Amino acid sequence: MRRSEFDEILLRNAQAKGADVREGCRVRDVQFDADGRGALVVGTHDDGTPFEGRARMVIDASGRDTVLARKFDTKRRNPHHNSSALYGHFTGARRHPGRDEGNITIFWFAHGWFWLIPLADGCTSVGAVVWPYYLKTRDKPLKEFFLDTIALCPALAERLQDAQLASDVEATGNFSYSSRQTHGPGYLMIGDAFAFIDPVFSSGVMLAMQGGFRRPTRSRPACANPRVRRPHCARSTAVCGTGRASSPRFIYRITHPVMRDMLMAPSNVFRVKEALLSMLAGDIYGKTPIWRSIRILKGIFYMLSLGNLRRSIAAARQRRFNITSDAGSDA
Ligand SMILES: Cc1cc2nc3c(=O)[nH]c(=O)nc-3n(C[C@H](O)[C@H](O)[C@H](O)COP(=O)(O)OP(=O)(O)OC[C@H]3O[C@@H](n4cnc5c(N)ncnc54)[C@H](O)[C@@H]3O)c2cc1C
Repeated sequence: MRRSEFDEILLRNAQAKGADVREGCRVRDVQFDADGRGALVVGTHDDGTPFEGRARMVIDASGRDTVLARKFDTKRRNPHHNSSALYGHFTGARRHPGRDEGNITIFWFAHGWFWLIPLADGCTSVGAVVWPYYLKTRDKPLKEFFLDTIALCPALAERLQDAQLASDVEATGNFSYSSRQTHGPGYLMIGDAFAFIDPVFSSGVMLAMQGGFRRPTRSRPACANPRVRRPHCARSTAVCGTGRASSPRFIYRITHPVMRDMLMAPSNVFRVKEALLSMLAGDIYGKTPIWRSIRILKGIFYMLSLGNLRRSIAAARQRRFNITSDAGSDA
């Protein structure tokens, strides 16, 4: 579904449950009390009028704007990953028949991978996640560059043969980062406000939602009692950190040729296929039984990589080049 519709449902539900929702305004700064017991949030409405509000606990859910991570200068580019994306919406894209109509398709190509996500209203979201060096080669308007990029992947081009681009083409560069800390006296960061890895397999919303479920509800008693705030936040971070810290390294392997081979010819020994799908979908919280299968999957991955050492060394060299060649910030 479209994010705008999903976000509207979440927002109205929060409102119906008693949240004081303010729209059309932007937080400009958060000034924390010296004793860490609260904060003053200041900002402006869209018409320029200022606003401010007191908070016992600030939960930063500002997404890739990373309001608090920028304020504290704790935002760090991810040294293990570096990619950019071009995306737009199409009408008339060919879908799978029957029950598979809504399935997401992933396409590999020479400079990265594509997502094709059928939306409920008939539109299809198509995006290319590419290495920054490729974005640097752009010498034409974004729309043309995007359509030329799609043409590099015949299987995707075939699905879009009768399709029309129905939106502007957007580009975002160099988007993998995390904050060195997730919480401190009087604040927590959740979702993309803390970290963003990669849109691979659509885990971002799931991870952000899980962060929302776990942190704010758990931190409510801590807001009321400053004495329990620090240890409580630390526990809460450990729970969420499990997801964020354990998943990335393997997510980066998704573009490795051995992992591609494994994905294209999946086998489910020791339930490794289910475990990988759970991890890529961001379903990694709580008492999920996937970790044994993930360890086995890693073992298989490393064995296959050793079995084809020359290709693995070439892939490692290429990956290092891809990560270090920088297309700058947002494209
Ligand atoms: C190219 C790309 C493709 C993606 N594709 C997918 C996908 O297919 N599936 C998926 O699950 N995830 C996808 N993601 C990831 C997903 O979009 C994010 O992980 C998810 O939106 C994070 O949710 P969030 O609530 O933390 O932040 P957001 O959804 O970004 O929400 C942040 C909110 O805070 C508001 N805000 C920001 N700054 C301020 C401020 N100063 N004052 C007031 N309000 C502010 C913003 O307006 C916004 O409403 C993709 C990401 C990218 C970059």
